[in-house]
Amino acid sequence: MEWIDTHCHLDEDAFTQDCAETIARAVDAGIVAMVAIGITLDSCRRVIELSERYPQVYATVGLHPNYVSAAQPDDWKQIVELAKSPKVVGLGETGLDKYWDHSPLDLQAEYFDRHLELSQQLNLPFVVHCREAEPETVAQLRKHSARSPLNGVMHAFCGSAETAAACLEMGMYLSMGGMVTFKKNESLRQLAATIPLDRLLIETDSPYLAPTPFRGKRNEPAHVRLTAACLAEIRGVSKEEIAGATTANAKRLFRLNENLG
Ligand SMILES: [Zn+2]
Repeated sequence: MEWIDTHCHLDEDAFTQDCAETIARAVDAGIVAMVAIGITLDSCRRVIELSERYPQVYATVGLHPNYVSAAQPDDWKQIVELAKSPKVVGLGETGLDKYWDHSPLDLQAEYFDRHLELSQQLNLPFVVHCREAEPETVAQLRKHSARSPLNGVMHAFCGSAETAAACLEMGMYLSMGGMVTFKKNESLRQLAATIPLDRLLIETDSPYLAPTPFRGKRNEPAHVRLTAACLAEIRGVSKEEIAGATTANAKRLFRLNENLG
């Protein structure tokens, strides 16, 4: 079976000691591709470096909503340039976050718009972070969706059925992370069981949100199989079916076949 971890932060300090070993463990476990997500200009440079060093690693570039107030005026211009690097397969992570108070919401929204517009210009998919801002996020996506089809994913989705339905209707993918395995998240499992198989992605968000039984420990891309196993169980299908569908979906969204090699 082949798996793709569509969202990980391999450039973070948690992996500086053993990044090569972590990637090797993932490859041994059947993870054929890992999408390393940029969150600041520095982080974007680091994930591109990783993608150049490891054949299975791809990168996205963008400014995470929690970091937009720390961005320098010139950072966005450089992100736009970095987006043209050969192994950059997407933009983000972007979106809205009302849980943390690191950046004013209107500035987050301004950068979210920039990512969505750039996605259309460069024909690159975007990766959405949404925390306690579902109505605002859906409204902003709708505004763009009215102008052109959306090409993106809601990462580590844990929103309501209404938000899921709205995003699916706008053509987006929903990505499930370790949270779906947590004991108390029965309603998320019920929702995950209803996502159309051709719109379902899996991710780890490593080093965060490790699935059961590693909850609270450092997460790593190899653990994406545990989330996938949980999805297979709740949907009453084989792991092979989840592997086949989610891998095909990730390749389609991030156009990994064109980017391979
Ligand atoms: Zn992330």
